[in-house]
This record gives sequence, structure tokens and C-alpha cells, in this order.
Amino acid sequence: ETLDKGLEKSKTSFFSKLSKAVAGKAKVDDDVLDNLEEVLVSSDVGVDTTLKIIDRIEERVARDKYLGTDELNQILREEIAGLLSETNTGDETDFTIPKNTKPYVLMVVGVNGVGKTTTIGKLASQFKKKGLKVVLGAADTFRAAAIDQLQVWADRTDVPIVRQEMGSDPASVAFDTVQSGINQNADVIIIDTAGRLHNKVNLMNELSKIKRVMQKVVPDAPHDVLLVLDGSTGQNAFEQAKQFTKATEVTSLAVTKLDGTAKGGVVIGISDQFQIPVKYIGVGEGIDDLQVFNKHEFVDSFFK
Ligand code: GDP
Repeated sequence: ETLDKGLEKSKTSFFSKLSKAVAGKAKVDDDVLDNLEEVLVSSDVGVDTTLKIIDRIEERVARDKYLGTDELNQILREEIAGLLSETNTGDETDFTIPKNTKPYVLMVVGVNGVGKTTTIGKLASQFKKKGLKVVLGAADTFRAAAIDQLQVWADRTDVPIVRQEMGSDPASVAFDTVQSGINQNADVIIIDTAGRLHNKVNLMNELSKIKRVMQKVVPDAPHDVLLVLDGSTGQNAFEQAKQFTKATEVTSLAVTKLDGTAKGGVVIGISDQFQIPVKYIGVGEGIDDLQVFNKHEFVDSFFK
């Protein structure tokens, strides 16, 4: 229900555009496919993924000879769910961490302004609700505001935070955090990092150093590298995904601000293009406005 609410803009827009795309047509023909292509691209699915979807529908048209536009909804649903499955996206329905991984170390990356800190705060809140002990690490030491913002969320969620002064070595903060997390018997350790894309070599070095140093304490850390992307920024989000996946091994995605956009298709395109599962979506500024991404709910909310 909350998902429907959060994605209302995407839903209305996608659904109404789709209806227009097939209006007055009984069967799926080249016209309908052209319109569909436009709808998908304008919903930020991305050109490559759109063409993939169109190709698959063309194959079905060729195979079945006749495809009614009334069947198109169902077929699109299947194709989109299929694409998301291929990237391992979205069977979870709840905030969980793997069993027998303690502490579970989550490193969060992304550029400023995408909702990284907010997502960390929301995650801390959700994990805490599950009875898990959470520790945060403020390894985005480049901006004082980043440390302060994380502190605000630590206070709000009543979760301990490890921080040093601005300008200190991010890897040192990460090391301290993991060490402190172990001392405090933490279940989940979430490390915030700086995402300064303007210097790719620096970013790469910084992230690998953070990893290396954490591994001195927890050899298989980080267990997840979560890239946060602003879903309302379309092509920028794709570009950031490209840069970050070059700089480090990104293992999951959080797409934020889907409440403020009519372009929820970015979720489909990004997970497909980068073959990385979307784990979480942000649907508002509030502490509870983060959801575990579930492809069935997502696809349903688009086509209801
Ligand atoms: P950071 O610089 O990446 O850490 O970004 P912040 O976490 O500080 O978020 C930047 C702004 O985006 C803040 O005003 C947040 O309240 C807002 N924000 C974050 N996530 C969402 C979301 O899912 N929906 C909406 N509407 N706003 C969000």
C-alpha cells in the first residue's frame, strides 16, 4: 500500500502513457511498438534496456503471429519481471542480513545529494527495529556537513556512531568503526563514504583503501557495497552507476526519490544495464520511507 503511494507518480504516468500508446489498436504492430518504445524511454528505462524489451516483444509477435494489445500489459509485466530476475533483483520482502555473518559490514557509496545519508539513517532504523545492533561510521570526512548529517541520523535512531574530525583519513574512520562495532557486539556496521566523482583515481584509491583496512579486522568485509542513486535524475543516475562500478565492485543499489518522479523506469534500466540488484528504494524523506525492493510489488504497482 505504501509502495503504491510512493510510486503513484510513476504508476499514473507509466500506465496512462501506455494506455495512450495502444489506444484504438487491437493488435501489436509497428506503430504500437514505436509508441511503446517512446513510453519506456521517457520513463527512464534507458535506450538499451528499452530495445531489449521491444526485441523480446517482437519475438513474441513473430512467434504467436497475432498479439492483441490487451495482452501487452501482461507480456510487459513478464518481460520486466524477467529482466529484474536476471539481475537477481527483488524477491526479498523484508529488511534482512545474511545469517552467520556477524558483523555484517555494509559500505555505502554515492555522490552528494542523492540521499546517501538519509538512506543510511533509514536502514539503521529498520535494522534496529529487527532487534539488530547497528553501528555507523562517518567515513565521508571530506565535508563537515556529511559528518554532522550522519550524526543527526545516529541521534534520531539512537544508534552509536564513530567519527573523527573533518579531513581525517576515511580508512582510519572505517577501521575504527569496524573495530568498535566488534567491541560493541554489533550485528550491522554501516560505513558512509565520500563520493567525489571528479577525481576517479582518488575515489578508486580511497574506496580500496577503506576496504583493505576494514579487512584487517573482518577479512571478508565489506559484505555489501551499496550504491545510492537519485531516481529522479535519469541519465545522471546511469552515468554515476557507470563511474562507481568502474571505481569499485558495487554489489547492490538503492534508488531514492522515486516519490518525486514519474520515471520509476530507471530502476529497470539501471539494474539491467549494470547487472546489479536493486535492493532498496526511497519513497520519501521520512524515516520509514525506505522499502525493500520487491519486483512483484513494483511491477504490480506499474500495471494495476
Ligand atoms: P546525501 O548528500 O547523499 O547524503 O543526501 P541526503 O541524505 O542528505 O539527502 C539529500 C536530500 O534528499 C534531503 O533533503 C533528503 O531528505 C532528500 N531525500 C533522500 N531520500 C529521499 C527520498 O527517497 N525521497 C525524497 N522525496 N527525498 C529524499
